[in-house]
Amino acid sequence: MAKAWLSLGANIGDPAAQLAEAVRRIGAADEVTVTQQSKVIITKPWGKTDQPDFANMALEVETALEPLRLLDLLQAIETAMGRVRHETWGPRVIDIDIVAYERQVLETERLTLPHPFAHERAFVLDPLAEIAPETAAWLVGRTAGPA
Ligand code: ATP
Ligand code: MG
Ligand code: MG
Repeated sequence: MAKAWLSLGANIGDPAAQLAEAVRRIGAADEVTVTQQSKVIITKPWGKTDQPDFANMALEVETALEPLRLLDLLQAIETAMGRVRHETWGPRVIDIDIVAYERQVLETERLTLPHPFAHERAFVLDPLAEIAPETAAWLVGRTAGPA
């Protein structure tokens, strides 16, 4: 089993209810166990600021799925919950990103690990630090450059 850390966000509909529903669906998958769950925080939009506030949270999971198969599962949950991709960083009913998968570093067309912006997003780092401070520190530290 591998450990992975997920970032969840929503800002249309009923964001808190959608986060709870996503957590339920992730935990219901055979190959995934939710081992830790952060509080939900309310944050200002990032990147594209003229949209409603977000609800964000982090999860730690244990999974038998390889990274791309985990991404498949999470994207299927997003789609089943009504996610439609209109514009980059635009409003969404649910976003589920893989922040990190163990300490894997990977860059493919569909998946970059760790997530390319995680280290510069408080809405990702703050909930993550609550449940996995070492992983949050790893994300920040690996981009800090030589001392
Ligand atoms: P951001 O990735 O900046 O948070 P977003 O979550 O709104 O933006 P999406 O529309 O959810 O972007 O996803 C766009 C693409 O990002 C997906 O099709 C997926 O293949 C790719 N992707 C690359 N790395 C990751 C990752 N670590 N977690 C989730 N998706 C990823
Ligand atoms: Mg995202
Ligand atoms: Mg996403």
